[in-house]
Amino acid sequence: MFTLNAEASVTYRGAVQLGESIACDAFDETKPLRIVSHAHADHLIGLRQSLRGCEKVLMTNATKDLIDVLRGPLFLMSGFVETLDYGKAFQYGEERLTLFKADHILGAAQVLVENAEGKRIVYTGDFRIDDTPVLESDTLIIEATYGSPNCKRSFGVDVRNSLTSLVEEGLKHGTVYVFGYHGKIQEIMQILRLAGVSAPFVASEKVFHVSKACEKYNMRLGRLLLSDEGQARELLNTNSPCVAFYHMCNKGKVGLNSFQICVSGWEFDFPIRQTGDKEYVVALSDHSDFEGLMEYVRRSKPKHVITDSYRVGHAETFAHEIYKHFRISAIALPKKQQ
Ligand SMILES: [Zn+2]
Repeated sequence: MFTLNAEASVTYRGAVQLGESIACDAFDETKPLRIVSHAHADHLIGLRQSLRGCEKVLMTNATKDLIDVLRGPLFLMSGFVETLDYGKAFQYGEERLTLFKADHILGAAQVLVENAEGKRIVYTGDFRIDDTPVLESDTLIIEATYGSPNCKRSFGVDVRNSLTSLVEEGLKHGTVYVFGYHGKIQEIMQILRLAGVSAPFVASEKVFHVSKACEKYNMRLGRLLLSDEGQARELLNTNSPCVAFYHMCNKGKVGLNSFQICVSGWEFDFPIRQTGDKEYVVALSDHSDFEGLMEYVRRSKPKHVITDSYRVGHAETFAHEIYKHFRISAIALPKKQQ
């Protein structure tokens, strides 16, 4: 089913190896270059070691700004970080690497490596097919979060409109708490502002600073208050109409008796599901569903595919489906340890 090739692999520590010199999204002592595809934690593995041990650590400017917020401004200064714009090639020995946009969170990139023989090795990182350019490849390494045929979203409605209506309904009763992950929270802020929601937004400290970084890159998030400052505290304490944004890890800690919305990609049957008296889950994802992943493979026209089984998802099933539908050799890596 798959002829292993030396051009690409995924290690047991989660490093996506591309060509001779490049490892993405985890530390790999055998590769001089480390790429950070985006600022989510499962793609920052061993970053401290990479900063110490790699010749260069490469990422987009926006990813750098987000890591500065999430890890503190001194963190990246302990190594040789170079920022690379989308579409700008970087030559290292006989290999050329280029980052391309991935529609996922601010700054997210796909990676193309072209070797001396002109072979194209592509790593998608995390992506949503909608606004992600599909790169043609010889060897493709692709994320597998929703790589099972059970992970299809076919609501037939625009989730953004459903989310806006739900928030507007909640605001009639007072504060609406929204829980999500970094990047997606800011996408929600933008959706609500574009839909004309003008209530004040309140954010916890990290969410606030990630939002400010997003505004540097032309996201328009409107008036935003820090949750522990006077005016915001007053709004929250009196359950007044405002939208309060918190990282998912604060669910169950704040806003307990208020209107609560959790935003999750792991919802496939309904755009909105009520989970409690005033609690809802909205199916807004920053990953492609199964159909989107398959579409990427089809249009990329690879000869070999590796599905990333290090990170959460359905890599084994996805590799199997790719072989079944396209007769392209496909394997999930790293292999399950016995
Ligand atoms: Zn991600």
